[in-house]
Amino acid sequence: MTLAAVSRLLPSFVELKTQIVLLSGGEPLLNPEWAAIAQTLRANGLKVWLLTSGLALAKHASRAVQLFDSITVSLDGTDAATYAAIRGLDAFDKVCEGIRAAAALGISTGIRVTLQRANYRQLRHFVDLAKELGARNISFLAVDVANPHAFARTDDFVSNLALLPEDLPGFEQALNSIEQDHREDFRSGFIAESPQKLRHIHQYFAAICRKGPYPPVRCNAPEFSAVIGATGRLQPCFFISGPPEANVLASRSGPGVDLPFALNGTSMSELRAQIDAGLRKECKTCVCSMWRDPEHIRASNHAAKFAAEASA
Ligand code: SF4
Repeated sequence: MTLAAVSRLLPSFVELKTQIVLLSGGEPLLNPEWAAIAQTLRANGLKVWLLTSGLALAKHASRAVQLFDSITVSLDGTDAATYAAIRGLDAFDKVCEGIRAAAALGISTGIRVTLQRANYRQLRHFVDLAKELGARNISFLAVDVANPHAFARTDDFVSNLALLPEDLPGFEQALNSIEQDHREDFRSGFIAESPQKLRHIHQYFAAICRKGPYPPVRCNAPEFSAVIGATGRLQPCFFISGPPEANVLASRSGPGVDLPFALNGTSMSELRAQIDAGLRKECKTCVCSMWRDPEHIRASNHAAKFAAEASA
């Protein structure tokens, strides 16, 4: 994604009363224009959130804290060996250094852990490590092995990333222990999920092992957010492709379409209606569902409209 492309989207963000832009990767800080992109978005009144693998955060921490409103770092191990086994990189210390540096500079820095077979035993250690690094909070989600989009796979597969039947009792014990010993961290929101939501992760892995149904999914993420890929492809969420014509950046085949038009055109509206009606199979096994109270969304849109009119 280039600065020029982001700049072309700015009028659409204003028209849509967009409030937050999340820049995600891999590592968005490898984009040579990341600072200019963040600066431009902020100068146009948007809150900017960085979701990063953390590999370059230590190097860019002082600049990043000036340009982002919050930072979330993916961290999948509590020690160098686990991190290397999962990520294939000897970068645990570097990522921790980045989290520590950003947090020490005062920006809201969260940690996101993808729970899987190689790290579920470290559940409570993740919470301790997050505190030690100065993080504002920590959140957990299950590794996505049921949705082919997660690994660009088209076959129906269950990889060795997921817990096996023999892991389930140990994971339950880890959940019992974190619920018992970290009550205050749940209450304060330091652990972002509720105990019940963490139990859904257990239910998800049990379902992968064919030992029960997938946990219930309630999600209206496409009603308040959308994903724009680096090539301009517009999606209702990370897991469901958008209509083929929904490309909001100029491509070799022609100019991109207008973002509000693409979001509210017939194809995307029909796709959202399908999702809302529970007709998409991706949703049934999704690890990343998100529900917001429609009243809250309406109130927040109203506040944004009021703020825009007041500043006009
Ligand atoms: S449940 Fe998952 S796949 Fe379905 S709309 Fe929500 S984020 Fe997308």
